[in-house]
Amino acid sequence: MKVSRRGADRLKDGHVWVYRSDILSANGISPGALVGVADEREKLLGTALYSSASQIAIRMISKEAVNDLNSLLRKRIQNAIAYRERVVRDTDAYRIVFSEGDFLPGLIVDRYNDLLSLQVLTQAMDTETVRQVIVSELTERLKPAAIAERVDPRVRELEQLPGRSSSLLHGEQKTTVFSMNGVRFHYEAFEGQKTGAFLDQRENYAAAAQYARGEALDVFCYHGGFALHLAQHCSKVTGVDSSRPALEVADRNATLNGREVEWIEANAFDLLRDYASSGQQYDAVVLDPPAFAKSKSSLATALRGYKELNLRALKMLRPGGILVTCSCSYHVSPADFLEVVAQAARDMHRNLRIVENRTQAKDHPILLTVPETAYLKCIVLAVS
Ligand code: SAH
Repeated sequence: MKVSRRGADRLKDGHVWVYRSDILSANGISPGALVGVADEREKLLGTALYSSASQIAIRMISKEAVNDLNSLLRKRIQNAIAYRERVVRDTDAYRIVFSEGDFLPGLIVDRYNDLLSLQVLTQAMDTETVRQVIVSELTERLKPAAIAERVDPRVRELEQLPGRSSSLLHGEQKTTVFSMNGVRFHYEAFEGQKTGAFLDQRENYAAAAQYARGEALDVFCYHGGFALHLAQHCSKVTGVDSSRPALEVADRNATLNGREVEWIEANAFDLLRDYASSGQQYDAVVLDPPAFAKSKSSLATALRGYKELNLRALKMLRPGGILVTCSCSYHVSPADFLEVVAQAARDMHRNLRIVENRTQAKDHPILLTVPETAYLKCIVLAVS
């Protein structure tokens, strides 16, 4: 398959995607095929996985020619596992395969103690052969009690893949308990968001717990990741989320850890407005909203949303307090996000010092030449 000059330059810069508009010809190439990629002068640039549906027409899997995809996949999974052995500590729940970040575009695998949860995002990763290779390699290396596949129907539709339900691909167990930094969580393979938890925040939980004291508020708390870590050191912790099922799990998690946390089911924007205007005060506030900017076009609206949340949080923080503020929107750059928080600080006449400027946990590796692999921002600030 030949790519345009622009597509070739992108690959030479170290990116791994080529958009459909930069493909010179894709005639006769079947969905999900393994393709050799060449520039206009027929120079080989590497090997990619093709999608006939996505705007991202090819995702590179190697800089060389690949004859045996199955053994390359096995090798990549082994490397991904070895990488976690080097960088992951104090947890039995972490991401084992992070798509492009592990040179396995279109595949996500998360470990929750003895269970694995897998997501297939592209045509190439969805073929029967590829699925079998992945499941057999994961089973052999990690000996999980079960492997669940979580299906995102929207992703399958966008990739023009036939409908499929979430199911167990190996074993029979569907529930377990996992632990991060000594805090324990219930896990159900087919419940909750993403693959069940927000593993990317694992190291940020520990960072937040290190600084937060006194009365703490965890806004957008989901299953209580931040709240339960804060409860180790704070005198009172309140968690807020609009999802009742999420709060029910959060409450079971609190019991599991012998902690008392107050859970409030509410729209965070309304609650923060009411609390801020009625003079509620906290020593620590965590803001971890869902991605507000799902695309570039919603950036301005997203920035307004982040600013409002941060303004309200600053209004409620006592001098000497800690603000932990997050954004998981890729389209909001780290610089944009810092600027939004700075604007909120100026408007509220507060001085903020950056205690830690953090990102996603190390088991979600950021590929330096693929900016899209870096999406999470988590800033810990001291407020005076
Ligand atoms: N902090 C969590 C992850 C938060 S994900 C963790 O570390 O696990 C975002 C959460 O925001 C979800 O649980 C979702 O239910 C909740 N949510 C989305 N919109 C909301 C709103 N308007 N008000 C309150 N919660 C909301």
